Formats: sequence, C-alpha cells, structure tokens
Amino acid sequence: MSSAYEAVIGLEVHVELGTRTKMFCGCPTDFGGEPNTKTCAVCTGQPGSLPVPNAAAIEAAISLGLALACEVAPRSQFHRKNYFYPDMPKNYQISQYDVPICADGHLDVAVDGTSRRIGITRVHMEEDTGKSLHVGGTGRIAGADHSLIDYNRAGIPLLEIVSEPDVRGPEEARAYLAELRGIVRALGISDAKLEEGSMRCDANVSVRRRGDEAFGTRVEVKNMNSLRSLQRAVAHEIERQGALLDAGEAVTQETRHWDEDAGRTSTLRAKEEVFDYRYFPDPDLVPVTPERADVERLAAALPELPAQMRARLTGGLGLSDEAAVTLVDAGLVVVLDEAVAAGAEPAAAAKWLANEVLSWCREADVDPAGVPLAGDALAELVDLVARGTLSTKLAREVLVGVLEGEGRPGEVAKARGLEQVSDEGELVTLVDEAIAADPAAAEKVRGGNDKAIGALVGAVMKASRGQANPQRVNELLRERLTS
Ligand code: ADP
Ligand code: MG
Ligand code: ZN
Repeated sequence: MSSAYEAVIGLEVHVELGTRTKMFCGCPTDFGGEPNTKTCAVCTGQPGSLPVPNAAAIEAAISLGLALACEVAPRSQFHRKNYFYPDMPKNYQISQYDVPICADGHLDVAVDGTSRRIGITRVHMEEDTGKSLHVGGTGRIAGADHSLIDYNRAGIPLLEIVSEPDVRGPEEARAYLAELRGIVRALGISDAKLEEGSMRCDANVSVRRRGDEAFGTRVEVKNMNSLRSLQRAVAHEIERQGALLDAGEAVTQETRHWDEDAGRTSTLRAKEEVFDYRYFPDPDLVPVTPERADVERLAAALPELPAQMRARLTGGLGLSDEAAVTLVDAGLVVVLDEAVAAGAEPAAAAKWLANEVLSWCREADVDPAGVPLAGDALAELVDLVARGTLSTKLAREVLVGVLEGEGRPGEVAKARGLEQVSDEGELVTLVDEAIAADPAAAEKVRGGNDKAIGALVGAVMKASRGQANPQRVNELLRERLTS
C-alpha cells in the first residue's frame, strides 16, 4: 500500500468475567462439564422466568471503567438486542445501549517508546451466547450435516470495551489489547485468555488519504485469537483496503473473518446496522444505580495497574523499560516481587524470568501468569548462582527441574547431581590429571603463553561434566604452572 493512506482503527473487546455465577441467574460459570448441564429456566429463556443482575459483575464493570478513567453512570439500563441466533435461546441478548455503565475514558499505549492516548468510548455489560458445534464437513456451518447447541456458556457475564477510532496501526492495536488485557488481569476480573476466548477482539479498520478529515468505509474483522494474530490481521486488512483504493475501487462495509493459516481475511457477512437490532429497554430489569459510596469504595480498592507496575519496576527496582514491559505483559510481576522480597537482586531475578522462565513457558505451552514457580525458589536459584554453587548453565537445568515440580532449587541440584564441584581435593585431582594428559599445553603455560591455559581448563571442565567452577579451575592451574 502506498503511504498516501493512513489507517483508522477502533477496537471492540469482549471480556468474559470470572464471576462464580452467570449474569442473570445462579448457574455456575466454570468451564467444562457435559453440554447443557449448567443451565436453568432463566439462561435458556423459558417463558415467565425473570433475570436478576449479578452484583459482582456490576462491580467488575465499574472497576474496569475506573481503571480506564471512565465516568460511571449514576443510572444505566439493560436493553434487549434482538436478532435471530440459534445459540441465544431468548432470541435476544441482554446488553446495554444508549447509557452504558461506564463511558468516556482513555488508555495510554506505548509503541517504540512513544505513548499515545486512545479514547475509550464505553464499557458495557452483556451476556454471552451459547455455543454451536457444526458436525460434519469442515466444522463450519456451510457443509455441516447437523449442528448441536451447548447452552452452558449462555448468560455468562461479558464486558464489552469499545475504543474510539484513535488507533493508527497494527502495532498500536496490539499494544492496546496487551495493555487492556494487563489491566483486566490486574483487576482479577477475568483470566483474559485470547487463545481460549475469555477475551475476544474485533478490529474495525478503515483507511483514508493522509490529511483527510473524513473516515473511510470501515470493515469489522473477527476471529483473531492472539496478540500476534490481531497485529497480522490489521496489517493485512490495511494492505487490502489500500490496494482497493489504489485500483480505484471502493471498500465495502462488511464483517470479515481472519484466517490465521492463510494470513488473510474473507467476507463473513454484510455488517448489521444498529436498527436491525430493535433495541428496547428490558422491562424485566430495573436500572443500575450504583451508590456514590460504592463507586468510591471500588476506586479506592483498585490494585496496582500495569502502567504503575512498569513505573515501579523501572524506577524503584531499576529494571530496563524492556524488562518491565516483558514481565508486566507476561503477568510475572508477582513472582518477581516475591523473589525480591526473599532477598533476590531485582535485575538478576528479572533476567531469569524474562529469559529462561518465559522460554520454558512457551515450550511447555504454559501461561506465564500461572507459572509454577514460587518467588522464594527463584531467589534461592539466584543465590546459588551468586555463591558459585551453580554455574549459570547448570542453574538453567535446575530451573527446569523446579518448573517440572521436582522440588526446591537446592534439592533439584542435588537430586540431578548438578552442583558445581567445589570440593578442592576433587578439583586438584582433575587439574593434575589434565596437566599430565597434555604436557605440551602445560609447557607452553609455564613458558609464559597464557592462552594455552584454555585447553587445560576445557579438559577439566569436560572431565567434570561441566560441574567444575571454571574460575577456581583457572586459579588452581595457575598456582601449579606459574609459581
Ligand atoms: P458497531 O456496534 O456497529 O460495531 P460502534 O459504533 O459500536 O458500531 O463502533 C464500533 C467500533 O468501530 C468502535 O471501536 C469505533 O471506534 C470504530 N469505528 C467507527 N468508525 C470507524 C471507521 N470509519 N474506521 C475505523 N473504525 C471505526
Ligand atoms: Mg461491532
Ligand atoms: Zn441459568
């Protein structure tokens, strides 16, 4: 695409709340179980049943709104959003419409060290749909033999966070979603897993000629299930629209589906217009009117948010910006704080987390935010390295053992036989053997060729299977050959 265009992007994010029960009934929200076993008259839309809003979900919505610097509406309402959807048993979704619970906030996101403020239009409450399972064919509805419906998810509380069209590129879209995910996780209101669908993001993308005021026609892109996938999908969509405009064609307003494997978007359906939904206030639900005192209590109870965490990590703990961003995004600050509290040097603990621990998580497909590593175990590992009991190389192996549940670092080092040999007697024997085995190298060192010592150190290290302390080996060799 020629740089004559500028991208305009607005993001709609859905977060599935981790409340114990559903939005309007007492059914459990926990994952799994036989289909259609976590349902009741309310969430399957039986005539005569009445919804009752979940107070914990309302509090979660207010907390998120406050964390995003929104105004909390003193009075908001639930509306019915009507459409035919086989996995919505009521044939409408309870959502919010003209007055959402929170509005007019903002979120600052940084790309390459430059921070930009993205407006938050609204945060509103709604309920999730059930799930359709298309049997036969490719698993999509076209070509399926029949479809099965599981209503366990129907009625699970959702928050929808809508941004202003302030995002200007794929990296910024990714940074926005990462930051929002960090805030949601810090609040503890959802596990916000993009890969598992407890956080979902739709991207509205348009392009316009640079310098133009008016927005171009927007396309809504769905089905991105990771940060990377959002970034790729947005980049692809900007390209596609730019190419259309370059060719003198128009962009069609529609909803497109991102295909992760093919790396492109395809038409899903024409975009619904708001009047298609026939919104009206739900007559079964009274307005939501939070007390001022409750809002103040929630504001006072806000935890440390990602931006504040990063500031503390780079300020007080002296970490680099990059390390702070990595640890905060990965949800590893709790482990870092515990390790530091247990006496670990912050930079050393941060380095282990950002490198070894994260790469282990990636390989083992474990969410770093739930990594099975206690902060004081990390502190012990850092200490074993600092004291020379473990070389960095051996400590990596010990860490893997700890992560695999084999015990504390000291125990793992013993059990796996990984402790550095610092028993002098044993080292002296190995050193003497190395000198005897390579008299030529020994002669060179005696003659003043300092570099020749490398071969002897290498031999000792090999003989000790990497467990000798190389510094001590070096010292012992020198004592023997140069004095
Ligand atoms: P809908 O509910 O139909 O998707 P909304 O008014 O809620 O419509 O807007 C959805 C998102 O689209 C918002 O994030 C908004 O910022 C974004 N948006 C609106 N117009 C444009 C545009 N021309 N280009 C890109 N994004 C846009
Ligand atoms: Mg939309
Ligand atoms: Zn129910």
